[in-house]
Formats: sequence, C-alpha cells, structure tokens
Amino acid sequence: MAAPRPLIAGNWKMNGLAADGVALARSVAERAAKDALRCDVLVCPPATILNRIAEAMRGTKVAVGGQDCHAKASGAHTGDLSAPMVRDTGATFVIVGHSERRTDHGETDAMVRAKAEAARAAGLTPIVCIGETTAQRDGGETLQVLTRQIKGSVPPGLSGAEVVIAYEPVWAIGTGRTPTVAEIQEAHAHIHSELIGHSGERAADVRVLYGGSLNAGNAKAILAVPGVNGGLIGGASLKADDFLVIASSCP
Ligand code: PEP
Repeated sequence: MAAPRPLIAGNWKMNGLAADGVALARSVAERAAKDALRCDVLVCPPATILNRIAEAMRGTKVAVGGQDCHAKASGAHTGDLSAPMVRDTGATFVIVGHSERRTDHGETDAMVRAKAEAARAAGLTPIVCIGETTAQRDGGETLQVLTRQIKGSVPPGLSGAEVVIAYEPVWAIGTGRTPTVAEIQEAHAHIHSELIGHSGERAADVRVLYGGSLNAGNAKAILAVPGVNGGLIGGASLKADDFLVIASSCP
C-alpha cells in the first residue's frame, strides 16, 4: 500500500489571543495556498479561539482541531469541552492524550480511549498521542510502553480516515532533543505493526506522526524516515514561516 498523505499539525498549546491567533492562521493559510504542499495542514489553537480560527480557515486548505475533549457529550463538568462542542466550532480534528494532559491532568489510557471514542461519535478525527518518558527509554521499555498505550488508548477497528496517532517521546517535547533517525524508524515501525495487530488491515493507512522538537532545521531528515507520516509540532508551529518550512519538507 502507498504511504498515506502526510499530515502536518500545529499544536499551539496555551498560546494565542484572538488577534495574533487569527493572524497566524491566516498567514499559514496564505502560504499553504501558494506552496504546492505534499501534505495536509492542521492547526490546533486553544479552545477560546477555536471558533474564530475555524471561521477564518473556512474555504482554505488548512484544517482546524481542538487540543482536548471530554469523554461525555454533555453534563456537569465545569470548564470542560465535549467533543460535539469542539465539532460545533467547525473543527474536524481533536488531539487526545497529549503527554501534558496525561501529566498535568492525570489522564490514563482508559480516559484517553474514551475521549477518542467520544471524538469519533461526534464526527471528529482524534489524534491520539503516545510516547515514552526518559526513564522508560533509559530502562529499555520504549516499545513495550508504546504497545501498552496503543492497546489502552486507541479504539480498535479504526482506519486512516478515522484516527491519527502521534508518537511523541515525552523527553523530546519542548526540549530541543530528538531521538535518532534509527530510533524514530524503530518506534514508527513498531507502532504501525501494533496498530495492525490491534485493528487489523483497516489500520494499514493510519497516519503515525512524529512529535517532539520537530523544527525547520530537522524536519527534512525526520519526515523522510520510513513510517513517519507527518508531524505534530508545538513550539515551531507558532511561527508561520517555520511551520511552513516543516510542511514543505514532507517528501
Ligand atoms: C507537542 O507539544 O506536541 C510538541 C511536539 O511540542 P514541541 O514541538 O514544542 O516539542
């Protein structure tokens, strides 16, 4: 099977007020319209401006996603956003299980899977984040951790049109450190093969993004690694130029 079309996704995290967020998204969309990109492009702004960014991106080549959703469709959950609410903004993707949420909000694999299922039910494509900590890598447990997280956090039976996986080594997020190309290749090959074990051949076209200190300087090398189907980008997605250099680096 041919490799799926890569996805370059920007995770803005807790950055962006209305004016600068809309300006950043517009600038990404303008560049994406001019450059003949070999990838899909997605921006995931904070919830407060999701609606405005989704409106600003309507009719452009740039898709919009949320950064989290609750597992329940509605109810007494102060401060949370349900998947139907995220979908209602015009977003079509949602990140679930980012390591910052797993750490800051104690999200378990079971919670992440419930969020991914809620996203599917609302018509969103979940981007399920998995990845090992420094201690797990140093302890030689990386592949076991990835298997455990896939089994625990990814709803089974989904195809590439229904789910995206982001492999994000926790120790590489926001640190400027990245795994070697060989380590990335090993992790991605393992994830692709575990997804087939988990979901059958339907999962053969699921995109597995790499995330963790991906930037304009290392994008070409990392995005060319077999089994890497794009990237989830934090810091470098806040500058349209850098983000577009990364998107233009897709093979
Ligand atoms: C992320 O938070 O998903 C991420 C990959 O961050 P950064 O690119 O800043 O390491």
